Amino acid sequence: MPTATRAGMPWHVQLVEYPPPLTGGRADIVQTGSRLGMCTLDDMRKLGLPVGPVLYCATHLLLHIPVELGTAHRWHVPQTLCRPGSTSCVVTGPETGGGRCHRIWMTPHDSTHGRTSASDLRHRLLVMRSALATGRAA
Ligand SMILES: [Zn+2]
Repeated sequence: MPTATRAGMPWHVQLVEYPPPLTGGRADIVQTGSRLGMCTLDDMRKLGLPVGPVLYCATHLLLHIPVELGTAHRWHVPQTLCRPGSTSCVVTGPETGGGRCHRIWMTPHDSTHGRTSASDLRHRLLVMRSALATGRAA
């Protein structure tokens, strides 16, 4: 008989606007679309790569992912942004609309990582972006 496992509860949701203490200190923030971001982070977790808390905006369908300081100036991944310390939503297309942000922090259920690894995130975003574009994503 199936039991509740970590795999069944993959994200711990917190209805707060401020980062969980796990994030700790200042960070650069990667912004991605929520579909690309969640597929990439789930993929990283399956591979055992470091994934920390993320901020999800339900209004703009965006994810904000804290990564190491110093990432912003060398971040070049299409359809994403990386800014020092900013979790404000940058909306570029009319399809995502306007309106007030409705946001929640989510932490991987099994995470001991304060933040997501920027180099792993960059690599896996490029892989997942290509997979989604060609319909090969899991
Ligand atoms: Zn927003």
